[in-house]
Amino acid sequence: MLWVDGLGRGRSGFGDICMKYRTYLIFGAPGAGKGTQGKILGAIPRFFHCACGDVFRSLDTRTPVGQAFLEYSSRGQLVPDEITVKLWMAVIGDMVGLHKFKPDIDALVLDGIPRNREQAEIMTNVIDVRRVFHLTCPDREALITRLKKRAVKENRFDDANDEVIRKRLTTYENESKPVLEYYGESKVCHIDATQAPVAVAHQILSEILANP
Ligand code: ADP
Repeated sequence: MLWVDGLGRGRSGFGDICMKYRTYLIFGAPGAGKGTQGKILGAIPRFFHCACGDVFRSLDTRTPVGQAFLEYSSRGQLVPDEITVKLWMAVIGDMVGLHKFKPDIDALVLDGIPRNREQAEIMTNVIDVRRVFHLTCPDREALITRLKKRAVKENRFDDANDEVIRKRLTTYENESKPVLEYYGESKVCHIDATQAPVAVAHQILSEILANP
């Protein structure tokens, strides 16, 4: 068995078939609770959680990619696809190399990526998406309230300003939502994000257990 390391190179060859990462996507608008659910799943053995926003936030802001992140995220825009997917693939490849993510036994839980159709297309050779958990919250004002609370608690500059928040929500509607169509209704599981986190987690886990 051969695992792609994210850069398209094979790793740990037990044979010659290229395997894709078994993947669950946590999907939803900013503030819907993707990170909370990702962390819960990631704490369970045999799941490996990777949040794209966290990858960006961990960058040294003096590097070109760190600068690009600051520039785009502070305007509520997506970082360009090529930079994003390259960085994500390098990080995942490193996690495989360090044996933190063991693709032969771990499921990958992604939040924040793919965030548009183009990213989904670029990643199609690397991830085998089993289920997309769409955390729904039609009440935009409720999301805005959540984001503002988070801005204070987590020092998130992109959540602090009304104009940037509204731009992020528009970016989600126009650019990210088409990802749901890309994977198709049969893979998407809609979950009411206004429920308590434990209820959302329960629904996600029930779904995974029912369709392993
Ligand atoms: P949230 O959880 O509120 O949706 P994130 O922490 O995932 O926000 O992302 C913060 C910002 O990082 C985004 O607004 C965007 O600028 C950038 N970003 C994160 N993931 C991606 C991605 N896959 N593609 C492009 N930009 C991204």
